[in-house]
Amino acid sequence: MARLSQAKLAGLNKTFENSSPQDLLRWAHEIFGNRVASISAMQKSGSVVCHMLAQLQLRIPIIFVDTGVMFEETLQTRDRIRDEYGLPVRTLKPKQTMEEQTAEHGVLYLSVDGQQKCCHMRKVEPLNAIKDDVDALIGSLRRADGGRRGDCPILSVDVEMNVVRINPLAAFTDEQMEAYINENRVILNPLHDQGYSTIGCNRCTTPVMPEEPKRAGRWRHLGPWSQYCGINPTDLDEDTSPAIELSQDLIDRILGQKTDFMI
Ligand code: SF4
Repeated sequence: MARLSQAKLAGLNKTFENSSPQDLLRWAHEIFGNRVASISAMQKSGSVVCHMLAQLQLRIPIIFVDTGVMFEETLQTRDRIRDEYGLPVRTLKPKQTMEEQTAEHGVLYLSVDGQQKCCHMRKVEPLNAIKDDVDALIGSLRRADGGRRGDCPILSVDVEMNVVRINPLAAFTDEQMEAYINENRVILNPLHDQGYSTIGCNRCTTPVMPEEPKRAGRWRHLGPWSQYCGINPTDLDEDTSPAIELSQDLIDRILGQKTDFMI
């Protein structure tokens, strides 16, 4: 095995700034084959990625982490994406139900420390269950969402999962996304029409007022200290380790040293 660091991805990230999301998805499929998956929380940007994958006829599995306390509308959106786009959707669940977790640990999501523990057990740990199955995970983070995502790279290394994270919509503006959604009638979570700008668990998500930041509705009850769940490593403060381990052959392919595939 060899090390692939974030620094080594800098050149590729610069090149990819001029690539369309569809080009980046084709690249991901070409390089990682059946060892890439796409994670979606069934929010607006995730639906756009799903639609693009379907249009490109890339049968990349969609990973959905069902914390057990999702909105019914989110589950319905997942089922529509699976049925109408014909995409393989794999649902991951935490070890304990929310009732079992509460019986053992109390109501965690009511405190800042508890929220991080709860998100780790109900989101991060279930996702980690597939870490041996994939070398890359496609996400749908956008810089236009601001906050810690304001400078989100297209490619990054996820040390905990030992995968390359790919965010093909990183440079997609709000205007580009709305235009794409309207032109293609993308399946959307109906909660977006009810004032929810971003959507997570029903315990920790509220609608937002028009003048509020997009993520103001997440963990509103905890104030500004909790805004992210940790399922996306680029949201984290600390870069605990700068590299992941992959085969040298795959690293050469990622860095364009062993393929004629160009985008
Ligand atoms: S969003 Fe809330 S309920 Fe969901 S996993 Fe995190 S703390 Fe728990």
